[in-house]
Amino acid sequence: MKKNIAVYPGSFDPITYGHLDIIERGLDVFDAIIIAVARNSEKKSLFSTNERIDLIEKALGDNPRVTVDTFDGLLVDYVVSRGSRVILRGLRAVSDFEYEFQIAQMNHNLRSEVETLFMMTSVPYGYLSSSIVKEVAGLQGPVESLVPPVVRKALVEKFGKNDE
Ligand code: ADP
Repeated sequence: MKKNIAVYPGSFDPITYGHLDIIERGLDVFDAIIIAVARNSEKKSLFSTNERIDLIEKALGDNPRVTVDTFDGLLVDYVVSRGSRVILRGLRAVSDFEYEFQIAQMNHNLRSEVETLFMMTSVPYGYLSSSIVKEVAGLQGPVESLVPPVVRKALVEKFGKNDE
């Protein structure tokens, strides 16, 4: 039988419990998920692409149903090249909606066979984003409840630790 594969694209700079929640729940719906780290993101990233991949792989542990990859160029072309037709995205507060709607519509215009499916955030992660994590970590605040231990360690290495 044909496998139902979803592509979960994003910056993952760095991966948070919010992303991991979407992946875990996505695996209840899809046979496999490809986490696609955007290389050509216009956003300036804190972690390099390789660092971001490494953190995702370590955070996930061994799971044969999940692969981590990078992509550049058009996402819809990448999705089709990987034998998928589903883009999986997470939705948080209302503020995500407008942006996601615009991109989903554009992607649909580019390749109508590719569908974007949204999964609502779980309540505890409704306001969790990589940006907020970086901001808190940069101010030496606690991030234990926001990211897995391996990411927390990497953030401490980037920002240094305030031992006062
Ligand atoms: P991008 O730069 O593409 O928005 P992100 O890494 O910020 O990349 O997010 C990737 C995807 O994960 C997006 O669909 C985003 O909405 C979703 N996401 C991020 N954080 C959460 C969260 N806390 N709950 C649910 N979805 C999330």
